[in-house]
Order: sequence, then C-alpha cells, then structure tokens
Amino acid sequence: MEHFDVAIIGAGPACLSLAYDLKAAGKTVAVVEENLFGGTCPNAGCDPKKILFAAEQARSQVAQLIGKGFAKNSLPSVIWSDLMAYKKTYTDPVSKEQIAGFDASGIKHFHGHGQLISANEVAVTVQQENVLDNDTQSMVEKKQCFTAEQIVLATGQRARLLDIPGKEHFLTSTDFLALEKLPAKMIFLGAGYISFELAAIANACGAEVTILHHNDTPLRGFDQDLAQHLVKELEKSGITFVFNENIQSVKKDDGKLFVTTDKKSYQTNSVVCATGRIANVENLGLEDLGIEASGRGITVDDHLQTSQKNIYAMGDCVAKNQPKMTPVASFEGRYLKQLLLGETTEKINYPEVPTSVFTLPTLAQVGVSSSTAEKDPANYKVQWFDMSKWYNYFRTNDPVAFAKIIYNKDSGEIVGAATLNQKADEWINLMTLIINLGIKKEQLQNIIMAYPSVGSDLQYYY
Ligand SMILES: Cc1cc2nc3c(=O)[nH]c(=O)nc-3n(C[C@H](O)[C@H](O)[C@H](O)COP(=O)(O)OP(=O)(O)OC[C@H]3O[C@@H](n4cnc5c(N)ncnc54)[C@H](O)[C@@H]3O)c2cc1C
Repeated sequence: MEHFDVAIIGAGPACLSLAYDLKAAGKTVAVVEENLFGGTCPNAGCDPKKILFAAEQARSQVAQLIGKGFAKNSLPSVIWSDLMAYKKTYTDPVSKEQIAGFDASGIKHFHGHGQLISANEVAVTVQQENVLDNDTQSMVEKKQCFTAEQIVLATGQRARLLDIPGKEHFLTSTDFLALEKLPAKMIFLGAGYISFELAAIANACGAEVTILHHNDTPLRGFDQDLAQHLVKELEKSGITFVFNENIQSVKKDDGKLFVTTDKKSYQTNSVVCATGRIANVENLGLEDLGIEASGRGITVDDHLQTSQKNIYAMGDCVAKNQPKMTPVASFEGRYLKQLLLGETTEKINYPEVPTSVFTLPTLAQVGVSSSTAEKDPANYKVQWFDMSKWYNYFRTNDPVAFAKIIYNKDSGEIVGAATLNQKADEWINLMTLIINLGIKKEQLQNIIMAYPSVGSDLQYYY
C-alpha cells in the first residue's frame, strides 16, 4: 500500500496553502477530492460571485452618474449569458489547473470520496463507468487505499437545505452561480450574506427579486444599524424584503413555483435556498475513530487537532467561532504547515478577521463590534461617521457612506470598525491593518497615502 507523510481530504483553499508548503519542505503529500479541485471559493463561491458582482458594480456606477455626465437613457443592461460566459472563462479551468499544479509539484492526487479506515489509513471511493458485454453501462464503485503518518480533514461545507415539501425545487448558491438563463422572478430564502449578495446580483441583472426571512434580523452577526440601512438601500434598488414569515412548502404548477409561508403564498420562477451551510462530516469514518463532529463541524483543540492525535481538521469543516471564510481557511493551512513541520508548538492565534457583504453599498466590519462596545462604555467609545458628503463618496455620487469606529477608551486606539459604503472592501482592509498592527494616531499621521483615496481619509477617523 502506498504511504505518505501527510494526506489531506478535501482540496479547497485550506488544503492548497498546506499541500504545496509541505511538499516544498520535502514531505510526501496525498490530496483527495471528490468534486472540483480548488474547492468552493474559486469554483462556486467567492471568485465567481465577485465576477458577477463586477457587472452589478459597473451598472450602479453609471446609474449614480446619470445626469452627472451620463445621459438619461444610458443605463446599461446586463446580458446574463455573456456575463456567465465570462465567469466560465475563469471557473472552467480551475480544477484542471489545480491538478496540473499538483502534478508539477509531485503531490499525489486522488479523485473520489475520502474516508478514514483507521487513524492511518484512507480509502478513496471512485465511481467508474463499467461497460458490460451487451454494451450496456453501469456504475461501479472502486476503492483505492493508502496510509499516511498524519491526516488533515479539510472537507468544507455545503448548503443546508430546508426539509420542507417541495425542497426538490430549491436551487443552491452553486446552482445560482451556474444558471444559464436568469429567471424572471426569484425568491431567496434566508437573509444571510450569501442571500443578500446573490439577490443583489440577480436584481441588477434584471430579475424581480424577493428575500424572505423567518425573523426580523437580517445578516446576523453584522452591525444591525448598518444592516438596516443596507436593507433600505437594497429596497430602493428594487429588492423586496419579507420578514417574519416561515416558509412551509414549494409547489410546482403549470411551470410556475408557488412558495407558501405561514402567512401568504408567492408565485415565482425559482427559489434559492440560502438558509445556512452545514459541515461535510458524513461518511468520513469519524464515528469509528471517536472523532466528534456535528453540522457545525469537526471538534478540534487549539492546535486544530482532533481527539486522534495524528488527525487534524482545518477550514470550513471545523466547529469554530471564527468566520468560515477563505482567508481563515488559508490561515489555518499555514498554521498547520508550521505545526506539522515542527516550526511551532504554539496554539493557533487568530488575528481580527474582517467580514463583508458584497452588495452595493458594501457592508463590512472587523474587530470589536459596536454592540459589544455599547455594553461596555467604561472601556469603549463608539463614534458614528456619515461620510456621504466626503469628497471620495461625492465624486462617484454614492447614495450613502456610513461608519462606526470603536476606540479603546484608555489608549484611544481603534479596536473595531464597521462601515456601509461602496468602497468598503478596501476600507475594511485598511482598518484591519490598523487594528491588527495596533497602529496609533501619531503613527498614522506620519504615513502619507495617495490622495484622493480611501486611504487618505483614514486620518479623519482618528
Ligand atoms: C456562494 C458563496 C460565496 C462565498 N463568498 C466568500 C467570500 O466572498 N469571501 C470569503 O472569504 N469566503 C466566501 N465564501 C466561503 C469560502 O468559499 C469558504 O470559506 C472556503 O472555500 C473554505 O475553504 P475550505 O478549503 O475549508 O473548504 P472548501 O473550499 O469547501 O473545500 C472543501 C473540499 O472538500 C471536498 N470534500 C468534501 N468531502 C470530501 C470527502 N469525503 N472526500 C473528498 N473530498 C471531499 C469538497 O468537494 C470541496 O471541494 C463563500 C462561499 C459560498 C458558498
């Protein structure tokens, strides 16, 4: 049986940052992937989504400047099929390129479902077509097994679909990002970041969009004042929000879909279920090895180690409090590289992680939240900024630009930041630097930023 120093199950961003580094350090490495190499982010997550977002962004920039340089009838319409064709030029090669990268580096890759047989043995189940004598075909399962000194689980998450009558009609975010034709009417279930982002894309591309949520709190975990402002802005752009309704069923009749809640019935052409994500922990052989796991993920200690001392887990499949996002998965991959190579014995120590909702305007936050700060006025001060009239937002005629900055009361340092503005993705990265590096007012004043830009505004927040 083939033997490796390290085997990684799941070839998403967490795996990639670890596999190449281990190989470069002289380890023998095996990677098992049952779907597309590269994982969720480049195939059906962050990257394709932000390609579609670029169309939303460009259209919105023109819309804001109509009467300010653009003619009344100059609002461009998005041609969905062209946009998707462009997206595919990015996504289609990802898996093949990843495999080529592994081959070039000498990383052994297996395509199939990975499962732990023992603490050191992995079985990969591959579905293969079997052509019979009478020329008919059937699928057969083939198993390949190998052993490894250390095993890292990086199996990610998938959409959690509501278990209601008619659930077979649901589309997932993955289906949405591969739609050949944009439906005329769409309902998005759930008011989390994925629902907001995909609904805003569909709306900008011409669909009639509703977001339906079971309670009155959209974007749980995000600053609620800013989230409410975002809802208002998205309503102005044409999205309908329905709060406090519980979906009960989806029915198909005469080619149309009918969504019934505890209060009403809605007719639509498609229903995207974005009510959360669940860790891929089934059929991994965890139970037999006594490794604890739930829908939240695999239980690990602060060295990302499971209850089996040579088996680790990283990325979205881990039960953790940090956001389940690509840069966090890559950070964990980099940490495990150091741990497995004996370069550290320290616990994993996460920096403050920014989170964003890529809509227009974009909502983003990092560090101490305003809700934590408001409960602890002895230690924190919260300041609200309305930047709508500031030059950077005026020049593009942005409708709103708000921020909340949280300061440590003793030191005066910025320890948290949240914003709703169209340039928030880079804004929040600059705040992430300030907070993680503990950059003080005097230090910031000694840095000259390119003007005019989001960076040159930073001094105004101190
Ligand atoms: C629509 C959407 C938008 C997103 N947008 C953003 C964003 O803007 N920014 C951001 O930071 N994050 C975003 N994310 C989250 C991001 O995609 C994930 O955090 C990231 O991909 C996690 O990496 P991972 O390696 O842990 O898991 P994944 O990328 O999910 O990779 C896990 C891999 O394991 C494979 N696998 C599972 N079980 C097995 C098995 N038993 N055997 C073999 N293979 C297996 C899966 O097929 C998958 O390829 C988004 C996610 C979605 C769905």
